[in-house]
Amino acid sequence: LKILENKVAIITGAASGIGKATALRLANSGAAIGLIDLKEEKAESVKAEIVKRGGKALIVDVDLKDPERVKQGIDKVVQEFGRLDIVFANAGINGVVTTIEDFSPEDWDTTLETNLKSTFLTVKYSIPHLKDNGGSIIITSSVNGNRKFSGTGMSAYSSSKAAQMAFGKMAALELSTYKIRVNIICPGAINTNIGENTHPNKSKLKKVQIPVEYPQGSHPLEDKPGNPEQVASLVHFLASDESNHISGSEIYVDGAETLL
Ligand code: NAD
Repeated sequence: LKILENKVAIITGAASGIGKATALRLANSGAAIGLIDLKEEKAESVKAEIVKRGGKALIVDVDLKDPERVKQGIDKVVQEFGRLDIVFANAGINGVVTTIEDFSPEDWDTTLETNLKSTFLTVKYSIPHLKDNGGSIIITSSVNGNRKFSGTGMSAYSSSKAAQMAFGKMAALELSTYKIRVNIICPGAINTNIGENTHPNKSKLKKVQIPVEYPQGSHPLEDKPGNPEQVASLVHFLASDESNHISGSEIYVDGAETLL
């Protein structure tokens, strides 16, 4: 039996990394997937892979900073597949990495809007579709916004990730009325394309003498970063009824990295 048969999921940032691995994983278990991303071409290859395996997927090309487009995108997925059960608010960028002194207000806004406001918008516009039948929302935060705070120059990123955690907990409390569960996942360093969206200002950072390298180092289990499939396994569990007594939790998937 496919445990997500007849379920419909929306995944943001589905064209790459953690979102892509999760799209394939949930589709393997029978869910139809709304693939939301800016990068339509990359999303096409994810859709092709799902269809090749006998699954269903729809691409929605949306900049998640734009409220109207987010609403339209989510509505389009529900129109196509008839319902909504699982929402993975995952898209994000590292953005500009530099000292607070050097951070421009515009760059700060871009990181906060892409990571935090997009999460608010994705959850907000999903609620009307989840209200009647309940559902599961999963938000991707990071060890960087909570336990670790280790990336010098990442004040905007870490602030957005910490705020996603707070938002997720408030949502869990508020949405329990509708039997909607909300959980927050905190990956450690994972091997993805997030470096493509990273703009480090190394000359400024040298002054504080902590090197910035992506992907970041090792964890006690292995001398290399984790992989997106290891995160997708956790999302799969949280999306399914196997976790139906878990809500408002923050769950780390970091190979004990934060204990180092
Ligand atoms: P990734 O760059 O491989 O994938 C992110 C996807 O989000 C990309 O396809 C990108 O096009 C999309 N995206 C970015 N901005 C968007 C926007 N405005 N509108 C629509 N789509 C947008 O990176 P990833 O590592 O898979 O990141 C996924 C999430 O995991 C992020 O929230 C990130 O902060 C978090 N995370 C990553 C790591 C890591 O080490 N890779 C660690 C902790 C947390």
